[in-house]
Amino acid sequence: MMIQMTGHTSDFALSDVLRLFFGKVERLSPDKLAAGQEAWYLESLVHLSPKHQTGASAAQTDTAQVRTSLWLTADDQASNQPPFLIHEDFVPQESVRRELKRQLYVLLERITDVHFPWGSLTGVRPTQVVEQILAEDSSPEKAQSELVEIWRVSPPKADLAVRTSLSEQRVLAQLPADEPLIYAGIPFCPSRCAYCSFISQDAHRRKDQLEPYVDALLEEARRTFAALPVRSSAFYLGGGTPTSLPEPLLERLLTGLAAILPLTKNAEITVEAGRPDTLTAGNLSLLREFGATRICINPQTFHEKTLQRIGRHHSVEQIRTAMAMARKAGFDHINMDLIAGLPGETPEDFAQSLEHLLLLLPESVTIHTLALKRSSRLAQELDPSGQGDLLINRPDPALLEMVARAQDRLVETDRHPYYLYRQKDVAGGLENVGFALPGHECRYNVGMMSDRLAVIGLGSGAITKRVDGRKVSRVPNDKDIAHYIQRLDELVTRKLQLFAI
Ligand code: SF4
Repeated sequence: MMIQMTGHTSDFALSDVLRLFFGKVERLSPDKLAAGQEAWYLESLVHLSPKHQTGASAAQTDTAQVRTSLWLTADDQASNQPPFLIHEDFVPQESVRRELKRQLYVLLERITDVHFPWGSLTGVRPTQVVEQILAEDSSPEKAQSELVEIWRVSPPKADLAVRTSLSEQRVLAQLPADEPLIYAGIPFCPSRCAYCSFISQDAHRRKDQLEPYVDALLEEARRTFAALPVRSSAFYLGGGTPTSLPEPLLERLLTGLAAILPLTKNAEITVEAGRPDTLTAGNLSLLREFGATRICINPQTFHEKTLQRIGRHHSVEQIRTAMAMARKAGFDHINMDLIAGLPGETPEDFAQSLEHLLLLLPESVTIHTLALKRSSRLAQELDPSGQGDLLINRPDPALLEMVARAQDRLVETDRHPYYLYRQKDVAGGLENVGFALPGHECRYNVGMMSDRLAVIGLGSGAITKRVDGRKVSRVPNDKDIAHYIQRLDELVTRKLQLFAI
């Protein structure tokens, strides 16, 4: 299929939608794309100044004309045949990209009869779309029907997006707009998960880097907060797996951070303790002393075979032991993650995992759907040449059903959806959703996703974000650990410049 862009060059926006239906997209020239095997010819057109065009009304002067036309062959188009399908609308100029994607999606959905759960919503958080619709004085019911009718979202997903967006708004209201969130990342894990595309390093093999890394991170924090007079009520120590650090080094890190971070008295402090096999009575007590209010222990599955297959070298029993140790240490907010769509798992396997998890009574649960990037071991196993299309995001009714059942089950246990995000290359085109008992929503997660609050990021790969109204500026730290340590001066300077007025 050939795609001609006329009056615009939003190839990234169109590619997002084309990839859903066809996998690979080729850029033939600045205004031409190719995707799939079909002979179709599609023109995606934008006229930014419709007021100069005959027939445009005064009300259309700030709008752009967006039109998408599809012919069954390029010859039909060349011989001036009327398009087989056509979609045209006038939208505000700032909405052009989203409208281009929407029209393209609607046409492709009609001609292929393939329906994705989130419809035309790619590259945008569904809850953000809901928020925008609600800001126009709409009711939740109206937002839901707009998602379904205009954005082609399936009714259950539209319902999920509206419910989650309303929870997000309640959580956001508790976060002072002038207080940044703080994130620090420890990019080491006990082993690498098969689906991981993160920068994380094997802590056992990179022993030489652990100490210099912790020292660099503390130095970055010290310099940053010496220069920035801020306070924060939400801190996240993530990774990686911070608890994979040897205890004396973890103690050095936590003592250092406690002395440096400008946290308010009742700040929420989350620590990623994701791998159950990294938890000990000693490091849990260090986390308590540090003031961690929430920790994450992530089983991902309760099936031994899958744990081994995905490269997590711990047992199901270790998950239960870790949970018991964490409770004994006094943690009263524990989050647990599960992943739907892990290789070899059936819907029954996933449902069983959820029941095992619920017996451990975590206050919050995040249900992820498997996402696969090219750099992960699993993606390489599925496509060793790297040339094929993984097409992982094709609609998958069994996966859709198992995720929906898990979400319903969590709501039955009084855990409600409070934040939602989507990733590229995610199985079945689905989503990740955080569920929590009332009052146990993670403020950091909601604030970070919202793009309404500044974030100060520390550590390799961490992103610092400044927010001015709708404008968001980001400064990333180097992902490579050695480069991060070497370039620390420069990284701190860039971060401080971001906040200079
Ligand atoms: S625990 Fe997370 S960061 Fe670590 S290897 Fe697994 S997926 Fe990657």
